[in-house]
Amino acid sequence: MQTVHIYRLHPRPKLFACLKAAQMEAASVWNLCCEVHKQARTSHTRWPGRDALQQATKGRFALHSQSVQMVVHAFLATIAITRQLRQSHPQMHMKYPWRTKRFYPVKWPTQAVSKEHGRVVLPTGKGRTSIVLPIELPENSGACSLVWNGGFELYVCVEQPQAEQVPGTGHATVDLGEIHLAAVSTNTGQAMIVTGRGIRSLKRQRSKQLGTLAKKQSKCKQYSRRWKKLQRAKNKIKVRAERRIRDLRHKATRKVITSCIEQKVGKLFIGNPHGVRNRDSGRHHNQRMAVWEYGKDIDYLTHKAKQAHIMSFTGSERGSSSQCPVCGHKHKPKGRNWACKACGFSGHRDLVGAVNMHQLAFSEHVIFPRSVTYLRPGLARSSSRADAPQASEDACCLSQSPDQPLLA
Ligand SMILES: [Zn+2]
Repeated sequence: MQTVHIYRLHPRPKLFACLKAAQMEAASVWNLCCEVHKQARTSHTRWPGRDALQQATKGRFALHSQSVQMVVHAFLATIAITRQLRQSHPQMHMKYPWRTKRFYPVKWPTQAVSKEHGRVVLPTGKGRTSIVLPIELPENSGACSLVWNGGFELYVCVEQPQAEQVPGTGHATVDLGEIHLAAVSTNTGQAMIVTGRGIRSLKRQRSKQLGTLAKKQSKCKQYSRRWKKLQRAKNKIKVRAERRIRDLRHKATRKVITSCIEQKVGKLFIGNPHGVRNRDSGRHHNQRMAVWEYGKDIDYLTHKAKQAHIMSFTGSERGSSSQCPVCGHKHKPKGRNWACKACGFSGHRDLVGAVNMHQLAFSEHVIFPRSVTYLRPGLARSSSRADAPQASEDACCLSQSPDQPLLA
């Protein structure tokens, strides 16, 4: 199995210029492919294939030959998918690649990357100086890409071993939520909740900061010096918030999978909350819904489950949170607690959803768990608790709250 490690680069001006030039060179490979392909299309001759494009781009660019080939492959993949979409969705009027690019990510396959003494050497072709980055790559790392994401980043493919055996035969369901990122219940009567409040507060902070800057920016002349300065500040906030959110999301989903392994889960059902988002529920609620990225939660969970050899699948969770897990009475819950008017049952709202999903996914009835474990995916900011460790990116894992039996 492959995962991607992301390294943020902080290049000095000279190296920065090098990296920029490499990306611009990759863009001109793409532009040449576009040009060649366009000519073939307009003159109704045979479309250039892999060999023709490789021949056309060979030895003309200041990049490693395989980096050039990777751009060609990416171009051909885009052509293939566009062709397919034009046939299946003619009403969409898909265009073949036409825009002249200024920058394009540079990729190096595994054979081209060399690692030595805590450095990584990325060749740019014969007779040219290579790009040398002071990064200690892991032993089993492979292909690299140079990507711009509000600053240069190096994406490194890392081969990770997949667990050889299924942890067990248990079933678990995950109810994704915005306040509680994931509510997990197993058919053995265990329950766990990972809160998403850290992520939510980071997003709220980001929205507020961006709002303040946008207000200031609206008073400036567009593209003036002050306007540009504010734009840079906005970009910085966006990129930083994105990194911190990604970090927390990884930690949260890791907690879910770790607990699944502990509970010997073999099959994991992830409820897809699609549909909740499309309701119009007022300005504030709509903003929260719009920034709730449950698709990423599903992706991260699926990937981590695969690595742990747990079979995971998704499906609609429709109606699972509005039914009483004891008597089946239906009503819409208000607040975080689910209280049944018919039989007097009371329990955590998100867990009710997770427990009911067992019926949907595995057709089995599960008793509502007697106790819940609460976990935090790490602290977004330094905690108000005096005994908590300082919230550095890695120390976050240590500061989980102890298991609290909450519901009797
Ligand atoms: Zn009931």
